[in-house]
Amino acid sequence: MEKLFGGIEAGGTKFVCSVGNNDLEIIERASYPTTTPEETMALVIGFFKKYEEQLVSIGIGSFGPIDIHRDSRTYGYITSTPKLAWQNYDFVGTMKQHFDLPMAWTTDVNAACYGEYVKGRGDGVNSVVYYTIGTGIGGGALQKGNFVEGFSHPEMGHVLVSRHPEDDFEGVCPFHGHCLEGMAAGPAIEKRLGRKGQDLSEDDPFWEIEADYIAQCAYNTTLMFSPDVIIFGGGVMQQEHLVKKVRARFKELVNDYVKTPALEEYIVTPALGNNAGTIGCLALAREAKLHS
Ligand code: ADP
Ligand code: ZN
Repeated sequence: MEKLFGGIEAGGTKFVCSVGNNDLEIIERASYPTTTPEETMALVIGFFKKYEEQLVSIGIGSFGPIDIHRDSRTYGYITSTPKLAWQNYDFVGTMKQHFDLPMAWTTDVNAACYGEYVKGRGDGVNSVVYYTIGTGIGGGALQKGNFVEGFSHPEMGHVLVSRHPEDDFEGVCPFHGHCLEGMAAGPAIEKRLGRKGQDLSEDDPFWEIEADYIAQCAYNTTLMFSPDVIIFGGGVMQQEHLVKKVRARFKELVNDYVKTPALEEYIVTPALGNNAGTIGCLALAREAKLHS
């Protein structure tokens, strides 16, 4: 029987469960709403039980913050999330109770970053940074196949940005107000303009402001990591014109101080689209198998 890998992309809105083969081809995928741990995890466990005979490992990319330290008492937990029902939830422990398998455990954005690294924009390069610009903003960075981390995983979506001169919005981040997420994630657009990003026309002048914030993020990322590629995914980046505006503003900000790769190759949207997270989780499961 063919060996299969499992993936769980655990997001604040939905959990996407998948099984895939050694070539990371998705064999089945199902999506469940994020409600309470009891309800959502029962569906997740039910999904994988069907494949119990064939499953060899599971890769989990979760919303956070999460505990990633293997020697910590709360390794595998979702920790101080604003989603109260999931605070201090033992995610990996719950999965291990039902499946005695190696499990990879990282953030949702790290998983998407890994997906792009193995099969998307980062294929063939060493250093990849991935951001999602959706309901929140999160980022993950990979160096030679390893996630950048220290006392915890990065929280790159909450870096500070300089206010655009034509923007008087106070920001919506409950912790920092006008951080990148507070100024540029989907809910910030909606609160500022009274309309969702998907309902704004392509030539709305707001997109220059949005592009400025994302370009500041790309600028800081470039100076801190000098990565091979910076990928911007998530709902807001479905505005196809936006990445071009980001490149143009980034060029102005960098002002020739560093010579980056050609911008069309350097500041990009995900090659895997919405599949980056799923493929990343499956790839992490494949790795977890290798290392166990
Ligand atoms: P999530 O972050 O919940 O996983 P998404 O990445 O789809 O999901 O992000 C949802 C956010 O992106 C919402 O705030 C929504 O208004 C915004 N969004 C979705 N599609 C578009 C679009 N085409 N243009 C601009 N904003 C969008
Ligand atoms: Zn913040």
